[in-house]
Amino acid sequence: MYSKNAWEKYNEKDVKKVMTFNEGYKKFISDCKTERECVKYAEKLAKDKGFKNINEFNKLQAGDKVYAINKGKNIACFIIGKESIENGINILGAHIDSPRIDLKQNALYEKDGFALADTHYYGGIKKYQWIARPLAIHGVVCKKDGSIIDVVIGEDDNDPIVYITDLLIHLSQEQLTKSGAKVIEGEDLDVTLAAIPDKDSEKDKVKNALLKLLKDKYDIDEEDFVSSEFEIVPAGIARDLGLDKSMVMGYGHDDRVCAYTSLMAILDTENVARTSCAILVDKEEIGSVGATGAQSKWFENTIAEIINKMTNYNDLILRHTITNSYMLSSDVSAGYDPLYTSAFERKNSAFLGNGITFNKYTGSRGKSGCNDAMPEYIAKIRKIMDDNNINFQTAELGKVDLGGGGTIAYILGNYNMNVIDAGIPVLSMHAPSEVVSKADVYEAYNAYKAFIKEIK
Ligand code: MN
Ligand code: MN
Repeated sequence: MYSKNAWEKYNEKDVKKVMTFNEGYKKFISDCKTERECVKYAEKLAKDKGFKNINEFNKLQAGDKVYAINKGKNIACFIIGKESIENGINILGAHIDSPRIDLKQNALYEKDGFALADTHYYGGIKKYQWIARPLAIHGVVCKKDGSIIDVVIGEDDNDPIVYITDLLIHLSQEQLTKSGAKVIEGEDLDVTLAAIPDKDSEKDKVKNALLKLLKDKYDIDEEDFVSSEFEIVPAGIARDLGLDKSMVMGYGHDDRVCAYTSLMAILDTENVARTSCAILVDKEEIGSVGATGAQSKWFENTIAEIINKMTNYNDLILRHTITNSYMLSSDVSAGYDPLYTSAFERKNSAFLGNGITFNKYTGSRGKSGCNDAMPEYIAKIRKIMDDNNINFQTAELGKVDLGGGGTIAYILGNYNMNVIDAGIPVLSMHAPSEVVSKADVYEAYNAYKAFIKEIK
């Protein structure tokens, strides 16, 4: 019953392919640390592979490659199939938001000779992991005149970085008696931005000097922070991990590793029988809410637009299309960690290197909030994996009653389509640096390709 290590199946040529594919992935997560950056990058890759914006098509027919973008934070890439779209779409769905620290709207203040910024963290984090390490600022400032300024500070070797301080160990006797959740409080995650005072100012000298710098360098005024999105993320690139370079350590594997592999699976596919799609969504880490989350009507509307460009649109065709669709909710799973075995039930755990992981259900405390996939559907997928010699495993997210995880699976499941969570096991999930196995990245990419080609 137990899954097998994928490295053992690879010959020398295979290992080269695994390594090469992961170079592309490492570049993706090193360059893309916000939803917007992921969408821009994905659009460029899609265009390079012959995909065109949906607005450029009056009519769509079999073989057409088309993409749609929502508010700069979602992208969906479709390949139109030979069969009627009413038979359903084969969908890969991943999320491109990752846990991070956002600046508040009124962020800037000066205290004791430093200019600092107030923050509100995004998603589930162990707050103590995000301090005393190099951080970068990625984001946009939307000006009143309609212009948008892109900001990335802390990624170039010559860039400065920003930082959240920690109390020195010498004085931490009291701090270290607190529980892990309270060692660093949310309101103490304030980012240090500057320390040189402005000689001409009476008060707030350092903050004023910083504002002058922001104005000179980026044309940003303090009021502009109100209509900005600044995301504080770990600075630096993804790195090979292990002396054998078998793993990748980087920020945002959850869920950009499944986003990249799902996207590449669609981009590297031609001539599908059923219309196929990869969709990248936002806001999974905070409940898939809002216009750019998986609960948004945008994806449904986009499918309606596509149907309308293929045939005489009516509501029933749309409903048939969605109900008859199959989806992999491409999202990461908890990797079995040899240092924390007591959190896992071994035979229902995902092991790094053993391939793509299917979670029939996630959820917590009695499967609450999960999408419990149909066994009939799992049988179809199992056959496709075996037929294509893909290493796969099934797992739960740790021991019963210890916690649990979210998903977008149930949201698409609400449309009555078959959905299952399928992704790559991760160590240190939601930490500033997470870990995946290169073999799993490659197996997932091949699994996604086989799925969109063969599921019916
Ligand atoms: Mn996720
Ligand atoms: Mn997550």
